[in-house]
Amino acid sequence: MTIGDNAFRSCEKLEKIIIPDSVTSISWNAFMNCTGLKSAVIPESVIIGRGTFSGCTGLTIYGCSGENVKRYAEKEKIPFKYICEYPQNSAGHDYVNGICTVCGADDRN
Ligand SMILES: [Zn+2]
Repeated sequence: MTIGDNAFRSCEKLEKIIIPDSVTSISWNAFMNCTGLKSAVIPESVIIGRGTFSGCTGLTIYGCSGENVKRYAEKEKIPFKYICEYPQNSAGHDYVNGICTVCGADDRN
């Protein structure tokens, strides 16, 4: 399933989103100018379109240490944290030697 172009654009009251695994992509500008948006939890498999979160000035993206979501956040200069740092969403995450086997969060310090 895809979240379409401009789907939630300028929904200023939106504060947090948790994208389910059933979503495969988020299209252009889907959350553009959601100025109240503080957190977005995004599975690693989701393809994120251009400008999806532009204008979301208070946003932190929560994701995994793979090539997709984290790299997107870095490219768009959006703060990134691991899903394990978003406590309500870390069910099923397992730590081996201090590193989460699901999202890659490092708990060794
Ligand atoms: Zn984790």
